[in-house]
Amino acid sequence: MKWYTHAAIGANAVWLTVLFGEPTQTAILYTAVGAFAALLPDIDAGWTGSRGAKIHYIAGGLFGIFKGLFRHRGFFHSFLSIVLLFCALIPLAWMIDPLFPLIFTAGYASHLFIDAWNGGMQWFYPLRKDLTFVPKFFRFRVGSAGDDLFFLLGVWGLILFVFMHWSTFASANLYLMR
Ligand SMILES: [Zn+2]
Repeated sequence: MKWYTHAAIGANAVWLTVLFGEPTQTAILYTAVGAFAALLPDIDAGWTGSRGAKIHYIAGGLFGIFKGLFRHRGFFHSFLSIVLLFCALIPLAWMIDPLFPLIFTAGYASHLFIDAWNGGMQWFYPLRKDLTFVPKFFRFRVGSAGDDLFFLLGVWGLILFVFMHWSTFASANLYLMR
């Protein structure tokens, strides 16, 4: 998937805030957390000759040092990486917000889930076998119409989220205008 497709789908991790009642105005910050986390797995992209993934260029190129260091769609596209990431983030539940580890991990996991439509990855790393649960008929190339469809799905999801919690955000506007 293109990076913006991952970002749009990952931003929908904001929906998890509804598990804990009506989201507050600050919940919208979680769209950024989800979008960023969704770019992270491609930290393993960018082998020699490739341009690398968006993640290598954001935050002032902070993640650029990882370019081409790992096997693409290996460990960073596995169940193991999801579990380890969640465990590593647990302290942030106290340091930042109780929902932070869950939403960050959901954004990350969404990347793997939609990448499956492009082809196989090492889901069961350290087992080095490329697997996908999407039948061949439904798979498509990165940057094709299917990619755009997922992007639109992500955008619609975000619009729906704002629409459904409009009263919360409308009051935020009133507050800003005062
Ligand atoms: Zn990927």
